Amino acid sequence: MSKIVVANCFQETNSFHPNSTTYEHFNVHFGQDLFEANRQDISGALNVFSRQTNIELVPAYGAGMGAGGTITQACFDQIAEECLEAIEKHSTNAEALYFSMHGAMAAEEEKDPEGYLLEETRKILGPNVPIVISLDMHGTVTRRMLQNINGAAILHTYPHIDWYQLGKRAASMLLRILEGVKPIIASVYTPTMVRGDELKTATGVHGTLIRHCEHLEERNDVLAAGIMLGHPPTDVPEQGSRIVIVTDDNRELAEQEALKLGTDFWALRARMQCVLYRVEDAIKIAKKSDGPVIFSDAADATSSGAPGTSNAILKGLLQSDYAGRVLFPIRDEPAVEKAMEAGIGRTITVPLGGTKDPRFIPLEVEVTVEMLSTGKYFSQGNGMGNAGPLAILRTNNITIVVSTQPSVLCDYSMYLGLGQDPKKFDIIIVKLPHTPHHLYDAWAVRNMTIDVPGAASPNIKTLGHKIVPRPIYPLDEDMSFIPSVEVFS
Ligand SMILES: [Zn+2]
Repeated sequence: MSKIVVANCFQETNSFHPNSTTYEHFNVHFGQDLFEANRQDISGALNVFSRQTNIELVPAYGAGMGAGGTITQACFDQIAEECLEAIEKHSTNAEALYFSMHGAMAAEEEKDPEGYLLEETRKILGPNVPIVISLDMHGTVTRRMLQNINGAAILHTYPHIDWYQLGKRAASMLLRILEGVKPIIASVYTPTMVRGDELKTATGVHGTLIRHCEHLEERNDVLAAGIMLGHPPTDVPEQGSRIVIVTDDNRELAEQEALKLGTDFWALRARMQCVLYRVEDAIKIAKKSDGPVIFSDAADATSSGAPGTSNAILKGLLQSDYAGRVLFPIRDEPAVEKAMEAGIGRTITVPLGGTKDPRFIPLEVEVTVEMLSTGKYFSQGNGMGNAGPLAILRTNNITIVVSTQPSVLCDYSMYLGLGQDPKKFDIIIVKLPHTPHHLYDAWAVRNMTIDVPGAASPNIKTLGHKIVPRPIYPLDEDMSFIPSVEVFS
């Protein structure tokens, strides 16, 4: 029997979020609980491992959440201690370790949490036990991470739909390493921060690079090929993008393909920036459109770690003479409380926005309370959703869905559950950079990313980086750079 230890540490840090992430924000799982947590990447890995008869799987530890602010050092210290203790406890006779990670964690002091965990895990397991990791594509792979692993699988799709396959790829690679293949990792770093529509796998230029990776992965001597895009809202010293190619003992191929992809990636850097519209211009375009228009507020996307309390687009709409029907979501706990106190049908004046983000000054808006809800709704595919106490407020042509849970701001099912079919509006504000095609883009006539402030602004130069390496594109637009390959084996 081969004993394989499984661990997980997963969070996407947004360094520009005004609040910190603490231990209470994480879902922590010890032992068997990790396998009960229904993580898709781990489920995919379990699918592969379970087909082997000679494997003993040992779930050690998991600490995961979505996106949030910088992790307090105390929180990371606690998670690291618990995680490493659990790995150590199960390390006797362990033959391999699968570590499910995100890649965009950053703590107050430790700016490379994944690198720290992998370095310490390597010390526990020794040099001969293979470690394979799986990663979201929105993160930083550091040299310290690459020095302490034997293989990495990276998500191939954005919007992300291959979590399960990601786990399967990682597990398959780990099994091949156990069978005796000799992994060689070649990696090319580019000093780039990228955003925008060209990163969508199905339609953007990034997809053409991914299809090359997938083609490579069909070869028997290629264990994995992937691209870490970097994550601009995480302000860390090794910020940038990285090609990661893992071959079976074929150094030349690994180097050649990593360099080719890295060179192509660098050449495409300007295209992989977001096309942005000023809110006034977007409203003008919406007026002339003959169908529903999406305003993407990527800057306040809770999925990218922003608080979801931006009122910038609402302000633009209120200051305009736009008369079409508008659906605007926001997170604002005090406004929901006020609406609850007033009751359905009452007209009140509430400050809206900025509650968790001092970038935004609350807007005093006169609204009618149209609906109050516990926020429980049936979410397609995910069972019951919970938006927390919620209010639907109306000011003239604008329907404002005020929630208290940040994560659900853009759940399409929540709108349907509340009787607010997005298709019945003329402008729909979506607090996400991109959504699966069928939700909005399939029926909207336009989708514009609005240039407004926010912790996750795709206008990268406005974020206020202090730690990223310089020069880096697009902060230093005229920089020159020649990609080169690094090998880890
Ligand atoms: Zn991602």
